[in-house]
Amino acid sequence: MPYDRQSAGKGGHSDFVRNPDVQAFLADCDYMREPSEAEAQAIASTYMPAPAGSPPCLPEYVVASDASKSDTPISDKLPSTQVGFIKVSHVLITMDRYSEMIDPKTRFVDPFKAAELHRSAAPITFTLPGSNIRYKNAKSVKDGFRRAVFQQLSTNRGNGGASQLKLSDTLITINNKAIALEKCPSCGTRHTFSFTLGGQQLECPACNEPVFVTDWLRLHEDVSDFGDNASAMTRMMNAVEHLLLAALILQVFGADARSLAKMAFVMDGPLAIFGQPAKLHARLMDLLANVNERLRELGLEPLLVIGLQKTGEVMDHANLISRFLPVGVLRVLDDEYRNKYIKGNDSPAANFGNETYYGQDFLFKTERKRIFNFAIPYPFRTKSEGGNEAQFARNKAELPRYGSLIERACDFIRHFEMDLYENSIVPVALAHRHASISIVPGGKVLDIITKTGLQHTPQHRWPK
Ligand SMILES: [Zn+2]
Repeated sequence: MPYDRQSAGKGGHSDFVRNPDVQAFLADCDYMREPSEAEAQAIASTYMPAPAGSPPCLPEYVVASDASKSDTPISDKLPSTQVGFIKVSHVLITMDRYSEMIDPKTRFVDPFKAAELHRSAAPITFTLPGSNIRYKNAKSVKDGFRRAVFQQLSTNRGNGGASQLKLSDTLITINNKAIALEKCPSCGTRHTFSFTLGGQQLECPACNEPVFVTDWLRLHEDVSDFGDNASAMTRMMNAVEHLLLAALILQVFGADARSLAKMAFVMDGPLAIFGQPAKLHARLMDLLANVNERLRELGLEPLLVIGLQKTGEVMDHANLISRFLPVGVLRVLDDEYRNKYIKGNDSPAANFGNETYYGQDFLFKTERKRIFNFAIPYPFRTKSEGGNEAQFARNKAELPRYGSLIERACDFIRHFEMDLYENSIVPVALAHRHASISIVPGGKVLDIITKTGLQHTPQHRWPK
């Protein structure tokens, strides 16, 4: 990575801000400031007691994921020739094992038991061509990138046998088994390309270039021959992490939908897809609606998916306001609150995140005084339910629509918060640590998750 976000900033940043030119400039700008005492009290008064189950309603299995990426020059002598590398890690935690892992007195994780858990985790890696690399004789970096995306997403990430997992299949499945493109991504000629599970690669009649079902994600659109392709890698990472979530949910759903009611999925970051592949968010809403419809038919609670955001403007705001909040309080981040206190936006959109978000953000200050920004999926199949964007913005802020999910999310965070990980929780911290180190290749977690025995064995153990 050309710039290290960790070390940049901090040091020289205050001198720079003290510069009178910069000060004068800032005086003309609106930005998030620390609220005054009175403002903060007013904000705090809009929070409500956070719901808690008695006893807490906790899942039996937790799947946490985290992703990391790097786009590095292939050698010091060729700084403009990059390859991209994306790694998504999943950690599966069984509640039984978790309680064994925690010292009840100190509430610290036993490092040896955590190491054992790490050995069972499985990063899935994706390698992509960056600037100045033409993959498999493609005529441009962009066409090579498209080819690589397809190849990486259509590779079986299961460990053979029962655990077949191709993300390109997942993509088609959540699009009601058919994807169409209206023009060639290589030459731009208008033509309808219709993809199915059995036909994921076609040829353009105009330029004879291959066209792939994964071109639907539009990840290549940001790729240029010699520019820095870091943003395309970031979009890819974001899309892949959420596609993997969909794939895991579909696998368990196919094996036994009932199991999903006992599981929780935790993502690092908001429940949203940004940039070129953003429309994927609508397919995820649809998938979750299908799953929850089935669970309802079975008399079960909706699936718990939690997005946890450790950084960003919402967390900046949370950290500014936290000392004014009593413990054990919750606030839905409705658009009014977001625009007033976080965005500082005079002309806000009718519905925040309309093109990107599939989950609703909440702020939650726990009884142990830590503050979390979590998201749970919107309880709607589409955003057109309710008629228009403004109506959706109101509907998504109505708490009863979320059923048991808010309370379960709060119980979940309370259970997994630890002093060791500030504003993070154990499953995410484990997945995070795992995403940044390389231990085992392949889809071992997928195997574990898709074992149909999962729902019948409360004493489930990690495989050797
Ligand atoms: Zn073409």
